[in-house]
Amino acid sequence: MWTYHPALLATAVPRYTSYPTAADFGPLEAGTTERAIAAADGDISLYLHIPFCEKICYYCGCNTGASGRRARVETYLAALHQELATVASLLQPGARVRRIAFGGGSPNAIMAAEFLGLVDALHAQFPLAAPEWSIELDPRSLTAEWSRVIGSVGITRASMGVQTFAAHCQKAIGREQSPTMICRSVDWLRKGGVTSLNFDLMYGLPHQSEADLEDSLEYTRKLGADRIAVFGYAHVPHLVPRQTMIPEGALPGAQARFAMAAQAHAFLTGNGYDAIGFDHFALPHDPMARAVRGGTLRRNFQGFTDDPAEVLIGMGASAISGFPGLLAQNDKHTGRYRQLSGEGRLTASHGIARASDDRLRGDVIEALLCRGEAVLPPRLLAEAEAGLAPFIAHGLARLTGDRLTILPGGLPYARVMAALFDAYRQATQHRFSSAI
Ligand code: SF4
Repeated sequence: MWTYHPALLATAVPRYTSYPTAADFGPLEAGTTERAIAAADGDISLYLHIPFCEKICYYCGCNTGASGRRARVETYLAALHQELATVASLLQPGARVRRIAFGGGSPNAIMAAEFLGLVDALHAQFPLAAPEWSIELDPRSLTAEWSRVIGSVGITRASMGVQTFAAHCQKAIGREQSPTMICRSVDWLRKGGVTSLNFDLMYGLPHQSEADLEDSLEYTRKLGADRIAVFGYAHVPHLVPRQTMIPEGALPGAQARFAMAAQAHAFLTGNGYDAIGFDHFALPHDPMARAVRGGTLRRNFQGFTDDPAEVLIGMGASAISGFPGLLAQNDKHTGRYRQLSGEGRLTASHGIARASDDRLRGDVIEALLCRGEAVLPPRLLAEAEAGLAPFIAHGLARLTGDRLTILPGGLPYARVMAALFDAYRQATQHRFSSAI
């Protein structure tokens, strides 16, 4: 069981889907991303961002807009097609695409025919090498037609935003979807050939009780999700204005949130799921659980991943690309993205060149979050020793020589411990949420 130490959770910390984090990005010189893409060799992964949803949820911090405005969707997709062509033209013959992910937003908020148009363009323009296809889906806009599309494309991995099965919580977060709708979606996805199905769930929602969470976990288990991500709702209306729709007074307090995180961990690990880092769970047969057992789990912009590729090229407004020496983000403003990309230009104007110190710190942070331990270079050990002391004193971590190990009770504090190795965190702390 986890013990609540509020003082150790008082600092807001990043989720570390990259290091440095997107909050530390600055302007990039023109041509930087083009050069990085042209230097990519061997296995690469692609991410396509579809920033549209049928209905916008009050809690959502994603870069997304309503899909009902068809003219915007169509011009955006035209710009995305242009970006695909621009990126493909830069790739060298040695590059091979092994993974393709569609995220958003909700990729199934566009028309199935539009989605198939993107898939055709990928086949025609990129060096695909039997890639693994994955997609994020909104059950509210999932149809039997999408099930057939998923089957025809060969998508085997899907992630559904479920969040909670409790109707009163769904109403409070502006995301109403019945259990019948979720069951039907699961049937369609399995029929379409999805073998790794993820449910996103949330704790810390307005009006949510432990019984509500238990119910959602039980539904999820019974529906056979292969993976489950259990995120704490981050209430940051100063950063995400649509969250002002959420009744602040109905949100569980910090201690109740901690108890819910502990409850989810205990429930899922007690029901056959392996813990994947601090907030993901997977059945032992799932590739993510296998990556944990093999010590190959990693972090990228999609969270925990079993993707070993060093290069991830993100396409679409706000999409982030990762290269060994560079992180680069496309223009977040969809209007500017549409204009620049439509002219055949890459839009990544912000990012950061990863210096050797960034890589060193990034490796330590990734090792702590993915494997629960890291060997600390002497300089980083000396720098973090005082900060680690309270975690060690509370039995949450152990330092043996230069090896830092996060103990089982330390899992909810993993991000806080990882942040001790983040050279940028003092400057950007206000932009993050609590670790639990
Ligand atoms: S469906 Fe997903 S991406 Fe779209 S608004 Fe809701 S949470 Fe955000």
